[in-house]
Amino acid sequence: MKFMDLSLKIVFMKTFLTTFFMALLSAISFTQTIDFSQVNGVNMQRKSKWTQNSSGVTIIDVCWENPGNFGSERAWVEQAVKATWGEAANIEFRGWGTCGYGSKGIRIRIKDGHPHCKGLGTQIDGMPDGMELNFTFRNFQCGYNLEQCIKFIAVHEFGHALGLAHEHNRDDCLCGEEPQGGGGGWFVTPCDPNSVMNYCNPNWNNLGQLSGYDRKGIQTIYGQKTVPKKRQPEERKKPATSTLTITDVLGKDQVWENIYLDFGGAVQTFHVNSQMTEDKKSFTVSEAGYYNYKVYSSTTYSNWSTYNGYGEGRVYLDVGKNYVLGLVIKGWNSDGGYYNLGLE
Ligand SMILES: [Zn+2]
Repeated sequence: MKFMDLSLKIVFMKTFLTTFFMALLSAISFTQTIDFSQVNGVNMQRKSKWTQNSSGVTIIDVCWENPGNFGSERAWVEQAVKATWGEAANIEFRGWGTCGYGSKGIRIRIKDGHPHCKGLGTQIDGMPDGMELNFTFRNFQCGYNLEQCIKFIAVHEFGHALGLAHEHNRDDCLCGEEPQGGGGGWFVTPCDPNSVMNYCNPNWNNLGQLSGYDRKGIQTIYGQKTVPKKRQPEERKKPATSTLTITDVLGKDQVWENIYLDFGGAVQTFHVNSQMTEDKKSFTVSEAGYYNYKVYSSTTYSNWSTYNGYGEGRVYLDVGKNYVLGLVIKGWNSDGGYYNLGLE
């Protein structure tokens, strides 16, 4: 939390800081580690890092000690936290109901005081009133509108709840602000003046937005967000199709016939003779509609004269049905000197 009001800050420094935060400070020593290649598991107070499940996701329960009539305010907190830490890293904040006896995770007390966490990371796991948030701001001044105040503070406090100390506490990141609270020890990123955890940020709590190093840092600690696998549809619908079967039969007085059939762009050829008097071919379509066809034939008759045939037309096919059609002669085209053909 960066204070908007200096006098409040001084009051706070005297009372709060000198009590338990000093204990934290003495308990945690600073070490300087900015080497990204060695960052994994280095020193971020292993004890205060929440554990990941076997899928690599860190699931943290969140509950409200005294939810009261603060539906909107609680929703703002949830939104802000999920949209920042919960979106950047592989962390899932769950629950958000009313705390019960023995509730684990982050237990939030709504109180009109100075927002804070009573420890870092898992130090507050299951701790009653482990985090305090202010929704009314009578005893704590905030220079933004209510929603902004609640969201900006929530992002900062949840940074603590994830184990992050104040950025300006770092001995490589000192600024005009007094170090406050426990140090993290594990400097996951270079000193970050834009951190939501840095009081020296000219934008208070970075206006509720994670800085680039905030993202990088939390991802180094908890891993990058894994996109949940999209569930496959229970049963993948087979695409509906239709099969059109066409039969060419050797006619009376015919000894040999060749057919070329273009059906909607797909081509099949037929051949029948006295040894094989019937030929069957199929076309499969996956869309209902009209299909144009063109058919050419060449037929030799028992008197050894050969005649050609030609025809075109269209056939409507629905999907999910099967059709059987035959090649038929529909008459003699005297102008062209060939048989008119069709599918029926
Ligand atoms: Zn803080």
